[in-house]
Amino acid sequence: TTIPAKKLENGVEMPYLGLGVYKMTDREEAIQAMTEALKVGYRAIDTAALYGNETEVGEAIRSSNIPREELFVTTKVWNTDQGYDQTLKAFETSLKKLGLDYIDLYLTHWPVKEKFVDTYRAIERLYDEKLIRVTGVSNHHQHHLEKIFVKANVKPMVNQIELHPYLSQKPLLNFCSENNIAVTAWGPLGRGKILEDETISDLAGKYNKTAAQIILRWHYQNDVITIPKSVTTSRIQENMNIFDFELSQEDVRAIDDLNKDFRTGQDPDNFHFDF
Ligand code: NAD
Repeated sequence: TTIPAKKLENGVEMPYLGLGVYKMTDREEAIQAMTEALKVGYRAIDTAALYGNETEVGEAIRSSNIPREELFVTTKVWNTDQGYDQTLKAFETSLKKLGLDYIDLYLTHWPVKEKFVDTYRAIERLYDEKLIRVTGVSNHHQHHLEKIFVKANVKPMVNQIELHPYLSQKPLLNFCSENNIAVTAWGPLGRGKILEDETISDLAGKYNKTAAQIILRWHYQNDVITIPKSVTTSRIQENMNIFDFELSQEDVRAIDDLNKDFRTGQDPDNFHFDF
């Protein structure tokens, strides 16, 4: 299977599905999961300085022998490293740990008050210097993005936000779409907490797919990029097998209707800085 890609605002293509590697802190387990994913067809990996596994991401990439230009690597600047100069420094550290010449997508991890605009300006500079191919942010509400628009020459091309059937984020999705900002869902499976939902289970039966596949397909049909996390070989494979069936419009809407504004993580307007 080839994973389809979304064309971003500047023409760069980002795979609709990648491997999230949060909490993959065991070195062997992380390398094994990433290697498995690359073997079965994943081309995108979503890491962060916070996750402590950028070195392992680099190793898995190099030993896969997949040409660099076929891969899409995302990492993020952590909250304690924000601000213009500090972000440039944090980027260098990430680049070194990954052992790469450039990173595909670099994100502000959370909008740290008083700092996130300068952090984004540094990301913009990295883009001008061609050290990254795509600019972006994470956990930014509309009002954060609007503050960035005032100061930026290049709008963020991606916003990575918590998004799943219990937190459908429609207003923010619409705002991003109007501004040509692609949306990536983190916690796309609600961190595993939505897999037992009755509507989802019923649809799984109807389409002869798993609950995880129904949810990931729903994201895709809503034009949302996903980065599900798993270290289990069978699940890594299962999660990418969503491009051979289609949910009816009615069923997409039935999943849209499950929204209850339920966050598994923190609200970007009120988050603890250093968790
Ligand atoms: P997720 O929704 O991807 O859920 C992951 C959990 O679901 C796993 O622990 C696994 O137990 C289970 N799971 C995965 N596939 C399954 C399957 N097929 N069947 C049954 N269970 C399955 O949650 P996540 O890991 O929090 O999010 C994914 C990625 O998003 C992270 O790895 C990370 O890269 C990113 N992320 C970003 C932020 C941010 O602030 N930007 C925050 C959290 C996560």
